[in-house]
Amino acid sequence: MEAQELKEIFPLTFSKGNKKLCELCQRPAHLQCNQCQVTYYCGVKHQQTDWVGIHQRICQFLVPLHAKTAFGLQKLSQAEMKLKKQELIEICKCEVQIKLSERKHLEALPAAHLCLRYSKEVYGPNTMELVPVYLLLAEANMGLGNLSLVREFLSQAELVVSENPDCGHGVHQQLCRNLGHLHALSGHLDAALHYFANDVYHSSEEYGLDSTCTCTGLFLLADVFDKQGNTAVVRSMYSEVAQVWHRLLQTQIQNPDTVSDSSYDKAQRVEQEKMLMSMLEFERKDSRTNPAQTAVVAHCLAMLAFLGEDDQKALGFGNTALQATASQLIPNHGLAESIHSLIQLVQHRQEVPPPGSDQSQGTSCTPSPTEQ
Ligand SMILES: [Zn+2]
Ligand SMILES: [Zn+2]
Repeated sequence: MEAQELKEIFPLTFSKGNKKLCELCQRPAHLQCNQCQVTYYCGVKHQQTDWVGIHQRICQFLVPLHAKTAFGLQKLSQAEMKLKKQELIEICKCEVQIKLSERKHLEALPAAHLCLRYSKEVYGPNTMELVPVYLLLAEANMGLGNLSLVREFLSQAELVVSENPDCGHGVHQQLCRNLGHLHALSGHLDAALHYFANDVYHSSEEYGLDSTCTCTGLFLLADVFDKQGNTAVVRSMYSEVAQVWHRLLQTQIQNPDTVSDSSYDKAQRVEQEKMLMSMLEFERKDSRTNPAQTAVVAHCLAMLAFLGEDDQKALGFGNTALQATASQLIPNHGLAESIHSLIQLVQHRQEVPPPGSDQSQGTSCTPSPTEQ
């Protein structure tokens, strides 16, 4: 963000005993946001970081929260104050999720910390409402490689969850996944296996076996087995993962209306592509080449590229999948047919309008794949 888009700030002069602290680092502040006049910073750098991270979204919301009776505003009642803060918490949480899905881990931090501060104020310390915030903070710090902070936030989350064991499979699943990642990154592979296995269990209870979440958990589990050199287990787990994703993606291709294009879903597709690519790479390196698995994984990648409207990639993976089916000992006609029809869908989308039709339409309007 350009500096001129930032709100003006003005230097503070303090009366004694009225020390203001920086919004981000809690060190003594020297600057104040000119718009809300209730947020302070140690310097321009933290003011800019906060502005980009969250403050531009919430600056105007903060005035009534902090106003005594100044600015002609009525002081809010306790209940109104709580509602306002809950609203702020949701805005912050949303912002963190968007930043994380865009892999902007550093920019996610100001909103995540603010979210934690307000959540503690509204819900109290050690309450279940804090767990999702701790997990977001852990995820942001994981992206930044700050493993000691990840450990700290996850143990806070673990503590709350251990006091509320009935909090639901969804919460347990997210906690286990984060702990699995932490241990995998720290090189504690046995502990990582333990947490990813629990992740898969909670995920299958919450979302079912045929779900992206459970599949991702299985993939992560297999990835640790791969690091341990347990190729046979990896092979069978990847095969399971590929089968489920294949079914899920085919359903999405057949029902294009259910495919969402939010930044969160796009980020999920990117993650899924990465996992499928490493499964394809595993097949290439595996001495026991298995064209059936290569075909299924490449077809998944082609479908994913089609959903992401990357036609060239879809055609490339489609052809890889077709070649693999051709080299199978026992031909799988159903799979080959399904790959063919995907390639046709892509070609149909790319088609230049036939002569006589309005040429100008062809460049701006892509035919939707609903006709299939
Ligand atoms: Zn600061
Ligand atoms: Zn402000």
